[in-house]
Amino acid sequence: MREKIAAFAQVARQLEPDRETFNELLRQSSQYARHFLENLDNFPTYQETADNGIGIYEAPVSDHPMPLEKALKLLWENVTRPGINPASGGHLGYIPGGGIVHSAFADFLAAITNEYAGVFFAGPGAVRMENHILRWLADIVGYPQSAAGNLTSGGSISNLIGIVTAREAHDLKAADFTNTVVYLSEQVHHCVNKALRIAGLKECIIRYVPLDEHYRLRTDKLAEMIKADKAAGKNPWLVVASAGTTDTGAIDPLDEIADIAEEHNIWYHIDAAYGGFFVLCEEMKDRLRGMERSDSIALDPHKSLFLPYGSGVFLVRDRQPLLSSHHYMANYMQDIADARDELSPADLSPELTKHFRGLRIWLPLMLLGVEPFRAALSEKRLLAEYFYEEIQKINGFVVGPYPDLTVITYRYIPPKGDPDEFNRQLVREIHKDGRIFISSTMLDGHFTLRLAVLVFRTHIETIDLTLEIIREKIALLLKQPEWAER
Ligand SMILES: *Cc1c(COP(=O)(O)O)cnc(C)c1O
Repeated sequence: MREKIAAFAQVARQLEPDRETFNELLRQSSQYARHFLENLDNFPTYQETADNGIGIYEAPVSDHPMPLEKALKLLWENVTRPGINPASGGHLGYIPGGGIVHSAFADFLAAITNEYAGVFFAGPGAVRMENHILRWLADIVGYPQSAAGNLTSGGSISNLIGIVTAREAHDLKAADFTNTVVYLSEQVHHCVNKALRIAGLKECIIRYVPLDEHYRLRTDKLAEMIKADKAAGKNPWLVVASAGTTDTGAIDPLDEIADIAEEHNIWYHIDAAYGGFFVLCEEMKDRLRGMERSDSIALDPHKSLFLPYGSGVFLVRDRQPLLSSHHYMANYMQDIADARDELSPADLSPELTKHFRGLRIWLPLMLLGVEPFRAALSEKRLLAEYFYEEIQKINGFVVGPYPDLTVITYRYIPPKGDPDEFNRQLVREIHKDGRIFISSTMLDGHFTLRLAVLVFRTHIETIDLTLEIIREKIALLLKQPEWAER
């Protein structure tokens, strides 16, 4: 018996690197990271490779160890290179963010110590750290002391927790669903629909509230719809507003929606996954007023706080329905029941064991303070305004509304031919070039280009380069007889 155990232990000890192996892991990983960071400006922001990372399949999971050099080479060739480089300042598509380096070191320490942040009894300091961050977040949103929340993996999960909490708060039962009404903007993020379905609420009546010319939810229409539904004996339950829509960056009239939600006793959830952290900027406080009057809110530090992916936030003004929908006890957890000085993440989210996400938010905030984040957000906003002005100086461009945040929509009208097809080709040419990355959408039935400025590494040089690339590609396309002036 002892011999057998010793034989297994001998092999199992490989799970613990010796000092030399540890140093080698550190050396090569930091070399990889440094090479990546120092060359960010030289690497394409978007790269289509022939095989799109298929090489990953060529190294089977087996009993044969692979040298670190080889593993990192596989990573570089197949993962880091192909597709969008989300860390690049040239990433101007979707809603980017960047991924600040300080958080990577926090993740490293979180993983090494493997701190258990799920329950207070196991990781009191880790849980206090998360609660400390959540309190700071509740303060910037403007929530009272009754608030609570959870550090989630992202906006989709935050919105899902929001919907489940709203269901609990209004004590909705399955039998009520078909008579229950949800009000969403036509520009709501699709993850809200997905969350409603996951939460078993797809039988609810979903009303899409029309938008004004800025793509903001029309509160007159919202009020009308609610009144009509009430008159028809329906149960208006939930309204979801956006503090920054993904498509056009519009901020819904948050304060007016709060009035309506209050009047009709409707749960008011704000999806602020994109724009929430702009409330840190003095000049944006007015624009975001009303946020503090919501019942719950989702924010995404991996967007407007520039953290690496995997960082979301859910906050609720009154913690009770969040607790009653997520708290659970089990026999094998009886030891933790006495340690109740603090709320534990496991009581406030679907997760039990989880990544110690607090550290990746806490460390950069401690090391840098809030000021650089605030400055980066103000800078991005001005860059968006700068692009909005400059793109109109190129003959042929029409633009969408003045940006509420940092998304600009625009399209080129060629001298002849189908504008949709022209813009489709234009975005394709820009992708082929790869120095920067922009995306497109359909707005009012038109193929439209989007520029989303949110990577902390995007600066005015990036925007100038983008304008230069756009000019270059338009000149190229206009040489084709299809588009050229007669
Ligand atoms: C990105 C985004 C989401 C989804 O968040 P994930 O972190 O990607 O899950 C939801 N709403 C808005 C407005 C977003 O921009």
